[in-house]
Amino acid sequence: MHIAIASGKGGTGKTTLSVNLAAHLSRSGFPVTLVDCDVEEPNAHLFFQPQWAWTRTAHAPVPAVDSSRCIGETCRICVTECRFKALIWMGEIMEFPELCHGCGLCMEACPAGAITESTRVIGTVQMGTVQMDAVRAESISPQNSHTADTPALRLLTGSLRVGEAMSPPLIRELFGQLEQLDQLDMGVHAGQAERIRVSVPRRNEEIVLRDCPPGTSCPVITSMDGADYTILVTEPTPFGLHDLQLAVETLRTLKQPFGVVINRSGMGDNRVDEWLAAQAIPVLARIPHSQQAATVCAEGQLLINALPQMRDAYAALWERLHQIVTQGRNTTEAETTGEAASAKASALSTTIHGVKTNARPDTETDTKAARHAAALQSASEAHHA
Ligand code: SF4
Ligand code: SF4
Repeated sequence: MHIAIASGKGGTGKTTLSVNLAAHLSRSGFPVTLVDCDVEEPNAHLFFQPQWAWTRTAHAPVPAVDSSRCIGETCRICVTECRFKALIWMGEIMEFPELCHGCGLCMEACPAGAITESTRVIGTVQMGTVQMDAVRAESISPQNSHTADTPALRLLTGSLRVGEAMSPPLIRELFGQLEQLDQLDMGVHAGQAERIRVSVPRRNEEIVLRDCPPGTSCPVITSMDGADYTILVTEPTPFGLHDLQLAVETLRTLKQPFGVVINRSGMGDNRVDEWLAAQAIPVLARIPHSQQAATVCAEGQLLINALPQMRDAYAALWERLHQIVTQGRNTTEAETTGEAASAKASALSTTIHGVKTNARPDTETDTKAARHAAALQSASEAHHA
């Protein structure tokens, strides 16, 4: 199960929520992988003490033009085809790799076979494991089967090369590495040359938490895309409401289910609550505003370890979230196994606060690429409205 944690603006407590939810789930016995998709400013690892298992250089594909094979000015097909202006004609083809999205179109289109694929470094990806001690508190769930020798959770984090403009390829690389990890179910203990099996318990379904970058632009959409559910974190202020509205519009365009966590509840006003109620968007939890919580976070500690009331709040959040996602999933399975009519009617009423109703149907934007592009367009329009 993939759960994205996102927000329309920075500073709402998205990473705090991600790391505390990851720790809560891990302590409850779930195998958890936390993916820090905020590759421009990764900081989820600061809350844990991960043992870094490996660091890999991440590359993105770029075209390499062999000018000796290029037909020349009479052609210029690659220049015309590249919508990102990564290739221009200046007496010969000039390449601007920083603008290249790696779509491969120019290589396909070149009639002379003058363009081949090369790569450039865009950053690094690290995989680490967090031992039980780092997420332990006095109260450990009896279901928990982690032992002192097994990692409580895995952490995947990316770091964008300084000066690199585009983070989506690195975010995609994170997901690619995650897929490989899942296939192998392998890890490497830090400091050991040989690969050894890391026995992350699989008694329950693995939960992947994606800590997304803030905003509604391409890196956020890449990070959220395809998640089973998205938690939008906001705060009860006019700024929080404005950016929440942008994020909601983006998720509706992506047609992904979502709910909202109101962080620092108790400060500000109730406009966020009123708007959410009018939109029939579920409030998954209200995390109370407290000076104590701010101090704990500033010290790099987990809230659920330091404050009992936060432990209860995160337990309640997971209970609500699990209920909504399971309900939505069961509905979808029923639809695909022929129980469509009755299940669909029931879904519309029973999941009103979750998976179905806050994703608006639109048959014109049914492909993934179209939804992605539409989400960007929608976010851009909303931003300028
Ligand atoms: S498409 Fe190929 S042949 Fe045509 S201008 Fe580009 S590199 Fe040259
Ligand atoms: S791979 Fe795509 S984005 Fe990159 S230069 Fe070629 S056409 Fe442009």
